[in-house]
Amino acid sequence: MDNKPQERGRAWIEIDLNALENNLEDIRRIIPQNCEIMAVVKANAYGHGVEGISRHLAAKGIKSFAVATVSEGVQLRQYVPQAEIIILGCTHPGDAKFLYDNNLTQLVPDGAYAKALNDTQYKMKIHIAIDTGMHRLGIDSSNYDEVESIFNLKNLTVEGTATHLASPDSTDKGEIEFTHKQLDLFNELVKKLKAQGLNAGKLHTRSSYGIYNYPELQSDYVRPGIMLYGIKSQNDETKVLANLRPVLSLKAIIAQVKWIEAGESVSYSRAFTAEKRIKTATVCIGYADGFPRHASGKGAKAIVNGCVVPIIGKICMDMLILDVTDAKDTQAGDIATLIGKDGNEEIRCEDLAEIAGTITNDILAGLSDRLPRVNIMERL
Ligand SMILES: *Cc1c(COP(=O)(O)O)cnc(C)c1O
Repeated sequence: MDNKPQERGRAWIEIDLNALENNLEDIRRIIPQNCEIMAVVKANAYGHGVEGISRHLAAKGIKSFAVATVSEGVQLRQYVPQAEIIILGCTHPGDAKFLYDNNLTQLVPDGAYAKALNDTQYKMKIHIAIDTGMHRLGIDSSNYDEVESIFNLKNLTVEGTATHLASPDSTDKGEIEFTHKQLDLFNELVKKLKAQGLNAGKLHTRSSYGIYNYPELQSDYVRPGIMLYGIKSQNDETKVLANLRPVLSLKAIIAQVKWIEAGESVSYSRAFTAEKRIKTATVCIGYADGFPRHASGKGAKAIVNGCVVPIIGKICMDMLILDVTDAKDTQAGDIATLIGKDGNEEIRCEDLAEIAGTITNDILAGLSDRLPRVNIMERL
């Protein structure tokens, strides 16, 4: 567009929609045939840009989506007019009108909240959240009466029942036992409802690691987030070997290159000092774009002209600096890849997250609105 700065003029995110399709197919291959995917697209589709991601998923047959907030639901409704949209987080009862007007389904964490929603007089679709050990949101699974009371509220229609696993990523024996205990408590509660003639609706318990490590389980939905985007939350082993491909790459332009002498320092606090004469490249991306400042001085890398090079010194708000001595003939205007592939090299988001002391979900959710999202789709 002529009235906007160019998308690849400074720092940007590239979204590989072919990879997204690949991951969707892979998840479908892993889960039982009658199980459907509720695509988790909260936090701007984990930073990928909710419009591009959700429109593409809908075109590929996804009929159910989940977000965290009512505002995210209202925005998403524009892109997927037909789909079911579940709000996983808390919505103030005073905002019930937005749930109703946009045909959003609220996940309900307790009886008092259900009653407050019911009292708004809007007819509403809900799923019930059951707490089986995560102890975050949900009605304690032992509290059957509270669950049952929700079915008597005349303005609310129960269309599903869900729980959330606390430790699905762990391969530790005790944690696996805990996960099975959570699932047992959930199944018992659903059975009890059935015995009373109450329909718990669609059942769902598993996010990405529940799929990776408990692929054989039956349910109506699974709720993958990070898995859809083709990466893991961290470098770890899982039961299923998925053939995922990362959807997101993070790139930025090099603004300036310099030679500095041995003994000279780079960036704030002079935290990096050159041991020999080196060539530096200043890249137009920083922590205000969501690049983790915690990665400063910890060995984080970028790729320039097919060469892996270190980030040196403190990462600044809008810029960071590379040692490009070993990357041939780097010039201003060249592209630095912070996450993704360039030539034969790749920077994995899992590795960056490990260096920054966090998980990939955190890195991705933190990528800011300042970065244009550029969709890439190769027609085969
Ligand atoms: C965020 C979220 C998910 C998706 O989690 P991933 O680990 O990214 O797959 C699923 N269910 C609930 C309730 C969530 O909050």
